[in-house]
Amino acid sequence: MHPGFKFTLHHRLGHARAGSLMTPHGLVETPVFMPVGTKASVKSLDAADLISLDAPIILANTYHLYLKPGESIIESVGGLHDFMKWPRPILTDSGGYQVSSLGLFKNSGQSLSSVDDDGVTFFSHHDGSEHRMTAESSIQIQAKLGADIIMAFDEATPDRGKAYAKKAMERTHRWLIRSRDRWQQLEADKVGQGSGKPPQALFGIIQGGIYRDLRRQSAGFVAGLNLPGIALGGASIGQNPEETEENASWVRDLLPKEKPIYFMGVGVGPDHAISAILSGADMFDCIAPSKLARNGLLYHGQLVIGPAGIETARFESDYLKKRINIAKKEFSRDKSPILESCGCYTCTHGYSRAYLHHLFRSRELAYYRLATIHNLYTMVNLVSTIRQEILKAAA
Ligand SMILES: [Zn+2]
Repeated sequence: MHPGFKFTLHHRLGHARAGSLMTPHGLVETPVFMPVGTKASVKSLDAADLISLDAPIILANTYHLYLKPGESIIESVGGLHDFMKWPRPILTDSGGYQVSSLGLFKNSGQSLSSVDDDGVTFFSHHDGSEHRMTAESSIQIQAKLGADIIMAFDEATPDRGKAYAKKAMERTHRWLIRSRDRWQQLEADKVGQGSGKPPQALFGIIQGGIYRDLRRQSAGFVAGLNLPGIALGGASIGQNPEETEENASWVRDLLPKEKPIYFMGVGVGPDHAISAILSGADMFDCIAPSKLARNGLLYHGQLVIGPAGIETARFESDYLKKRINIAKKEFSRDKSPILESCGCYTCTHGYSRAYLHHLFRSRELAYYRLATIHNLYTMVNLVSTIRQEILKAAA
């Protein structure tokens, strides 16, 4: 693998894998759920909170940080890790998804970004200013941000039919070659100049929309480049557990066993996390756990693994949706924590549902932190428990 990085696969159980990924900022045990810190902040938490809930690695977003505060500012104050005082590994996405899809910020109902073979022109959602991002500039920005893992520039393919999915996939492949070339050049410069900056690992992204043959073609292409890691990206991955599972099954035999596999945007809740792991995900991320928390929706349930092993793993709850809506009046006098058996800071410190209900209804800022800690802890802890089960089965 790339200098400073090493992925070790310890054990496989069915399609589920337990491994570890060494990075310049420490070891990440896999499978791993990665909380999302879009603007260099996991909303309402600081680094100490994230360490206390034992998040091994977090994400940040290239598109948002490029617009504000700008990668040069972050570089000038020592890079992302130092900027946000987060000592553990960071992954940045390439911004491809945002500039080509979220970049369509509505202004008089018109699409505000245009994709061509060379890159994407888009308009800032802050002030409408025009910007251009290419494979090379995305990698350059990510180098300045300084995450451990960086992503190739890609075009996400919202479902606009197969012809478009094919075109976008082919473009993504050409951009991947350009991303790799720029990355290799920057890595060589770093060593040559003795900059002391830690190395970065580039992951390639499989696209191809909802089409099995395109997905397989893309997987073969990405795997052939022998990059440090491979990601499953795009429209159908992450929509629901069944689609994610199906999408992964299309390409599994083409993926190198010795590389970390990252399912992008997957992990809306505990059920989805379980299904991603059983489908072979080593890494996955989703904004949903923290976003749901901020909207009053708190996970509630237990990981249950039957005697037949982790294939039977499920998240069981007394509540239909496997979460409680703290806004509901029934919690206004409820002295119990969100979940009695939960080991998170919020639950173990005895914060009651009644208190959280009050904070939420009053829009008190403390609510957002306490609630986010619970949901993220639930995801991180569930994934690490499943990892231990995979390893136990190996022993
Ligand atoms: Zn909790």
